[in-house]
Amino acid sequence: MSHVPERSCVGCRVKRPKGDLMRLGVDPEGGVSFDVSGQGLGRGAYLCAGTAVECLALAGRHHGLARSLRLGHGVINYAKLQSQLAQIEETPPSPPR
Ligand SMILES: [Zn+2]
Repeated sequence: MSHVPERSCVGCRVKRPKGDLMRLGVDPEGGVSFDVSGQGLGRGAYLCAGTAVECLALAGRHHGLARSLRLGHGVINYAKLQSQLAQIEETPPSPPR
């Protein structure tokens, strides 16, 4: 069996294969965004894809996201991330153009 790269969720800290996680990265403005198109925004952090809302809330509570991205606690706009997440979940994946 080949090795599947695993990453830990910054919320619940469970290790999962990368395919079961959503990636977040530091955007050019220094904020944090979901790396939806896989363009590889700066430093990355991961949240469980199935429970991203809950894990994002957990990450905000214990600052796991800020720590893993090495950002100050005030830098991350969790309200923005929650609404970004809601948008992602509403939008079906589009075929590559
Ligand atoms: Zn999680």
